Amino acid sequence: MGFIEPAPIRDHANPFESMMDRFNVAAEIMGLDEEVYNVLKSPAKQVTVSLPVTMDNGSIKVFEGHRVIHSNILGPSKGGIRYDMAVNIDEVKALAAWMTWKCAVVDIPYGGAKGGIKCDPRNMSRGELERLTRAYTSAMAEIFGPDRDIPAPDMGTSQEVMAWLMDEYSKLAGTTVQAVVTGKPLVLGGSLGRTEATGRGVMISAIVAMEKMKINPYHATVAVQGFGNVGSWAAKLLAERGCTIVAVSDLSGAYYNEKGINIDEAIAYRDGNNGSMDGYKGAEKIGSDDILTLEVDVLVPAAKEDVITTANVNDIRAKLIVEGANGPTVADADQVINEKGITVAPDILANAGGVTVSYFEWVQNRLGYKWNRERVNRRSDRIMKEAFDRVWETAQTYKVPLRIAAYIVAIKKVSETYRYRGGF
Ligand code: NAD
Repeated sequence: MGFIEPAPIRDHANPFESMMDRFNVAAEIMGLDEEVYNVLKSPAKQVTVSLPVTMDNGSIKVFEGHRVIHSNILGPSKGGIRYDMAVNIDEVKALAAWMTWKCAVVDIPYGGAKGGIKCDPRNMSRGELERLTRAYTSAMAEIFGPDRDIPAPDMGTSQEVMAWLMDEYSKLAGTTVQAVVTGKPLVLGGSLGRTEATGRGVMISAIVAMEKMKINPYHATVAVQGFGNVGSWAAKLLAERGCTIVAVSDLSGAYYNEKGINIDEAIAYRDGNNGSMDGYKGAEKIGSDDILTLEVDVLVPAAKEDVITTANVNDIRAKLIVEGANGPTVADADQVINEKGITVAPDILANAGGVTVSYFEWVQNRLGYKWNRERVNRRSDRIMKEAFDRVWETAQTYKVPLRIAAYIVAIKKVSETYRYRGGF
């Protein structure tokens, strides 16, 4: 297929390039035609707005905000809003495309989107953040909507920001519209089970993969990089399923205990220590990056992007990698991983539990009803398991790694839907 340009040789790959490289491989293997490839490659809509906000000292500062809708072929678009100084339109475009594949792979009826405002939320007062959020919502009132585009939190935004967004949108609509945003506080229509949803999906992916690989969870050792929301929930739930968590790490360093770390105790330590594992005595401190190369059955990178690279991939000894983080493996490391026979449950599948429960939040808001935690967990577990099985079967059919299979599943779903809906 001559229209897809081969990946250039680079010494650094950003998550978007990593994603596009895999998208291109999947598109080639499945024989995607050029017209549909071009439709899926570029975002459907991108909007940039200027947001004048009165600061606490009385001055007016103008912020730049973006919202990119990559695709609304499967349904209203879904994706987080990021507040960060590094926000720029290219990054937002990349993250929006990523959301399209993530929603499609778990088969929820959403397209992909992302938004962002270039700002430094840590150095803004609560009042400034609220005014900025209301200004952004007002400027995007024509874009957002429960049937159009549904934002959620991302880096630098919180459930409180989502509450302001919902309130401002509701004022403009003249009625309370809970379903316009997910990740809201529980009292405002948030869903039970959302906090642990991503880590829970990581656990389900790991358990289903182990079952297929004939690894007994009761004999399995696990290392988890990143002990924040995703990493600590994944570690806790895997420990409950019988796995021995031999190592965890965060920004303060990595902690190893051959006999297994008591995760509930470690979480309690972290919570009482300003969110950090610094000084944790239940394990031996090892080099930060050594956590990636331990001899374990399962490695869960759940901290940040680009941590498994061409520089360390040769030393990885895990049999299974379950990607809790977005983009933890650079595309250039894929070949070595495949040659070594390591199974990878890829990010767009393994960490899709979060967006799945966001979808449940939207469903509950629209029903005007609240599900209990058991119902949320049972349904998200089933969606994650079915998605994993679909990706596994696709990998067998096309004789490709799970990552490429996940993209094939997602691209197939979106391109088949596009063919029925048609363009102009
Ligand atoms: P978080 O901020 O709660 O936790 C991040 C953790 O990683 C912290 O413990 C931090 O100390 C640690 N960390 C950061 N840099 C590190 C490094 N170099 N080495 C070791 N540890 C390091 O964030 P989170 O919500 O758990 O998200 C983690 C990853 O999962 C991100 O890539 C995020 O995009 C992805 N993700 C999160 C969700 C979600 O629902 N929270 C959903 C999908 C994907």
